[in-house]
Amino acid sequence: MATGFSFTLAATDGRARTGVITTPRGEIRTPAFMPVGTAGTVKAMLPDSVRATGADILLGNTYHLMLRPGAERVARLGGLHKFMNWERPILTDSGGFQVMSLSSLRKMTEEGVTFSSHIDGSKHVLTPERSMEIQRLLGSDIVMAFDECTPFPAAQDVSLESMRRSMRWARRSRDAFGDRLGHALFGIQQGSVFREQREESAEALKAVGFDGYAVGGLAVGEGQGQMFDVLNYAPGMLPDDKPRYLMGVGKPDDIVGAVKRGIDMMDCVLPSRSGRTGQAWTRRGQVNLRNARHADDPRPVDEACSCPACRNYSRAYLHHVVRANEMIAGMLLTWHNLHYFQEIMAGMREAISKGRFASWENDFQSRRSEGDIEPL
Ligand SMILES: [Zn+2]
Repeated sequence: MATGFSFTLAATDGRARTGVITTPRGEIRTPAFMPVGTAGTVKAMLPDSVRATGADILLGNTYHLMLRPGAERVARLGGLHKFMNWERPILTDSGGFQVMSLSSLRKMTEEGVTFSSHIDGSKHVLTPERSMEIQRLLGSDIVMAFDECTPFPAAQDVSLESMRRSMRWARRSRDAFGDRLGHALFGIQQGSVFREQREESAEALKAVGFDGYAVGGLAVGEGQGQMFDVLNYAPGMLPDDKPRYLMGVGKPDDIVGAVKRGIDMMDCVLPSRSGRTGQAWTRRGQVNLRNARHADDPRPVDEACSCPACRNYSRAYLHHVVRANEMIAGMLLTWHNLHYFQEIMAGMREAISKGRFASWENDFQSRRSEGDIEPL
C-alpha cells in the first residue's frame, strides 16, 4: 500500500462524515467537491481562481489527455501539475467511462478496449496496465482503477458479467500500479442497482486492497431516487477508514444527499459547464441569466455570495454578456458556480463536525424551495 497518503476521519453525524485526506501535495478536506479539468484546464478559470473558490483537488480525464496532448508528452514536460500550473492534488479517472461514451469503433475484450479517437480517428488500446501507465505519466495523485462503467439500465446477468470483468481489471490495475510513494489507487464498486452484486463487488475490491473506494455506475441516467436507493447501502459495504468517492455527481441536492449517505468525494462538470451556458446555481435554486427578466435588474445573482461575479456585477450585466456571447460571461458564472458548490461543501463539513447536519440540510432545502428572488 502506498505511504504518504492517508485519510483521517474527524467526525461523523448519522452516516455523514468529515475528515482530511493527506497527500504530499496538500490536504483534501472531506466531503470534497472536485472541479473537472478535463483537458488540463477547468474551462474559463485560472488555477489560482479555482483554488480561491475553495477547491483542494481537481479531476483530470485520462481519455482526453492521452489523445491530446498525449501522456508521454505531458510527462516529458514535467507532469500534469506543472503543465497546467496546479500544484495541489489531482485525481485522474481511468479513461474507461469516456472511451465508452466518446470514442467510436470500440471493441471490448478481456484484455481491454480498442477504440478510435473522437478527435482524429486514430487507433488506441486502453487496458488496465496502459491506464495505470498513463495516469503515472500524468503524475496523478489519486489514480482510478480501470473498469467498465456498466450502462443503465442493465439486465441482471449483463451487469453481473460487466461487474466481474471490472473486478478482474481492478486486480490487474492493482498489480500494474505497484507501490508508489505518496500516490493512491482507488478501486471502483460496480453492480448497477443490484444489491447482491454491489456486495460481491465490494468484497472483491476489499480482497485486493485499495487506498480508497469509488461507488461507480451511478449518475448514468437512473435518476436521483434510484441513485439514493443504492447509496442507502453501497457506501456501507466499503471500508469505513478509507475515502469513498461518488463519480460524476452532481446537482447541489444530489451532492447533499450523497454526503448524507456516507460519501466523502465527488466530481462533476455541472458548475463549470452550466456556467458557460448562462446558468447560475444559488442557494435559492437555479437562475438562467439569459432570461429577459434580468435585463434591467441591478441586483447581484445572490446578494449573500462573496464571489467576484456577485460582488462586482449586476444581473443586468451578466444577462448582457451572456446574450452577447462574451467570454467574461462564462468566466464569471463558472466562478460563481464553483464558489457556491465549495460553499455547500464547507457548510456540510462544519455542520457534520458540530453534529448539526440535519438542521443544516433543513436550511438548505427550505431556501431552495423559496425559489429565486421576485423580479423587480
Ligand atoms: Zn456569486
